[in-house]
Amino acid sequence: MFCLSSKNMRKTEKEYDFVIVGSGLGGLACAYILGSEGYSVAVLEKNIQLGGSMQVFARNKSVFETGVHYIGSLDKGENLYQFFKYFELLDKLKLRRLDDDGFDIIRFNDGKEYRYGHGYEKFKKNLYQDFPDDKQVIDQYCQDLQKMCERFPLYNLEVDNDQSYLQNTELMEINAYQYFVELTDNKRLRNVLAGSNLLYAGMKEKTPFYVHALIMNSYITGSYRLVDGSSQIATQFSKSIRKHGGKIFKRAKIVGANYHQDGRVREVITEDGTTYKGKNFISNIHPSVTIQVFGEDRFLPAYKKRLSKLENSISSFTVHLAFKKNSFEYPNYNVYQYNIDDVWGAIEYDQKNWPQALLISCSPMSKSEKYADSMSILAYMSDKETEH
Ligand SMILES: Cc1cc2nc3c(=O)[nH]c(=O)nc-3n(C[C@H](O)[C@H](O)[C@H](O)COP(=O)(O)OP(=O)(O)OC[C@H]3O[C@@H](n4cnc5c(N)ncnc54)[C@H](O)[C@@H]3O)c2cc1C
Repeated sequence: MFCLSSKNMRKTEKEYDFVIVGSGLGGLACAYILGSEGYSVAVLEKNIQLGGSMQVFARNKSVFETGVHYIGSLDKGENLYQFFKYFELLDKLKLRRLDDDGFDIIRFNDGKEYRYGHGYEKFKKNLYQDFPDDKQVIDQYCQDLQKMCERFPLYNLEVDNDQSYLQNTELMEINAYQYFVELTDNKRLRNVLAGSNLLYAGMKEKTPFYVHALIMNSYITGSYRLVDGSSQIATQFSKSIRKHGGKIFKRAKIVGANYHQDGRVREVITEDGTTYKGKNFISNIHPSVTIQVFGEDRFLPAYKKRLSKLENSISSFTVHLAFKKNSFEYPNYNVYQYNIDDVWGAIEYDQKNWPQALLISCSPMSKSEKYADSMSILAYMSDKETEH
């Protein structure tokens, strides 16, 4: 565990009700909720920029996303809409709704493309045109998506319901790939319906259907991009958190913790030796890093064992392009481009056939509605590729 000499140590005397490690979407949302309920809160972020995967970077006045390219469920009344309203974000964010007729386009090497329409009616209508003999299958799929989402009460802003997956844990076992095999013999339709699985690093053997359902339903019910970058979510959150009295510390990388005699965490320690005291601590960082930082001996063996068995999902590699002024018309949709027929196969690549799947997305900028400023092209890439 990390230990500091008393010479380096700087102490902040205030004891916060909650100290939150990491300023990703999760950490900022926690800080907002707790701060607005009257608790004193400190958010500690190792980077200079807040937001984690909502960070952006700029080159020659073009802004590029590092993570979040589009968000779902933002149509009026949908779940993210409700959350953003509660977080006082809704009327402060600059948003652009993606095309009604196709927010995502699934494109294959044979030149055929399929458009996911916005809202279930449009979504079905587009697919009926592409697969006129499979209307029943498409209806069944849409019903299954919605039914699955009803089983996740919190997703629908309910505390519980008797259909909940918590009482029906076998729902978690349904495999997404297998679901599609059983749904239809039409292989192209199967691949189209699973065509955005790059979003959640879908794996044939592993990905459960509920993961697919929650994500697909979210995008069908309102896909939006953030004009000038998703970092505005973090900026607006931080203003509201500070308004409620919360403190946010940047360049505060947590490297260790000190404990009370009874085993509770007393304070966390940053890289430069500053300590932050708290009554409660929330970690918004990777669970394995949380264990390292807070100390191996502080966690139950069963928890550590379970965690050690979980593999991280694959990483991605992104090429960012900046366009000459007014040279490329802004496409208000994403393209998932496949060089293979089986969309589940793209994750298993070798150096000869990489990349087999691409997510192509442009960020909207307030300076021009008509033209795109930049484009991001994202492909799977294992982090092993960059190991020395
Ligand atoms: C490439 C990519 C593309 C994505 N695209 C989309 C998309 O288009 N739409 C969508 O909805 N979602 C997308 N996601 C997912 C989404 O970005 C994440 O689910 C979400 O932002 C994660 O938030 P988080 O709070 O869990 O963690 P993070 O965003 O990972 O935040 C963790 C924070 O903790 C900080 N931290 C880490 N260690 C320490 C430490 N020791 N001390 C202090 N701070 C520390 C980090 O710097 C970071 O700011 C994408 C993710 C990635 C990686």
